Amino acid sequence: MKGRSNGRVARPRILITNDDGVAAPGLHALAREMAQLGEVRIVAPDRDRSGTGHAITVHEPLEVFATEVGEGWPAFAVRGTPADCVKLGVLVLFDEPPDLVVSGINAGSNVGIDVFYSGTVSAAAEGALLGIPSIAVSALTEKAWPSFEASRQVVRALADWVLQHGLPPGVLLNVNVPEPLSEPLKRLTWTRLGLNRRYRDTYRRFEGPDGRRHFWLMGDPDDGDQEDPTTDAGAVFRGLVSVTPVHSDRTDLATLTRWGARPGQSLLLGCLDGRPGRPAG
Ligand code: MN
Repeated sequence: MKGRSNGRVARPRILITNDDGVAAPGLHALAREMAQLGEVRIVAPDRDRSGTGHAITVHEPLEVFATEVGEGWPAFAVRGTPADCVKLGVLVLFDEPPDLVVSGINAGSNVGIDVFYSGTVSAAAEGALLGIPSIAVSALTEKAWPSFEASRQVVRALADWVLQHGLPPGVLLNVNVPEPLSEPLKRLTWTRLGLNRRYRDTYRRFEGPDGRRHFWLMGDPDDGDQEDPTTDAGAVFRGLVSVTPVHSDRTDLATLTRWGARPGQSLLLGCLDGRPGRPAG
């Protein structure tokens, strides 16, 4: 097998992207760190596309142009979403697919329900759907221009580990790092998504000069999971580095099982008022 020893590719190809846009300092920090591990390929949105989730561009062509990140890293900027960037980076822009996709380093944490809206996490989810081991990295930081020192250390260790051992199909690692850490980094904490973290979504209404209605989303997280250190939100709240394996398969087998049903089993519509898993006919 080409260039392979001890399960590791000699010079792995690492596709990096983000949702903060190609000019974001977190992407630059990630590029420098991943260059220690392999050949870096950068494909990122041309502007901040935070909160676009797993959207893809289907009704118009995707414009791609060559640019640079930081001190001259060649990069492709895409007038599209983070998921568009990963598709193009894996399928089109390079001769061979990458060995690893890393998305980040996002300015701001992505914990709990954030993963549904986050372009950072969705870029890694796209990588996982395409069969490439993928990692999303987000920094919980108060600073406008953080050094991402802890995040870089964490993502390098995890990327190195994933390049050696891979990830189960369809699984991405969602990593959240408090930045800066209060003490030197020694450990990671495995967590689950803290889905009790809700936003108190409010919309501020205002009128434009033309008299039309506008609403601006002003959401504050209500951290119901901050007390629970097994969740991602609880871990980063305690200053811990949170690592959550997230699966692309959202099928809820536990619910089907509780109903006495299984995938592939059929049911007469007239039986829906009975036990949901009751076999047809
Ligand atoms: Mn972002």
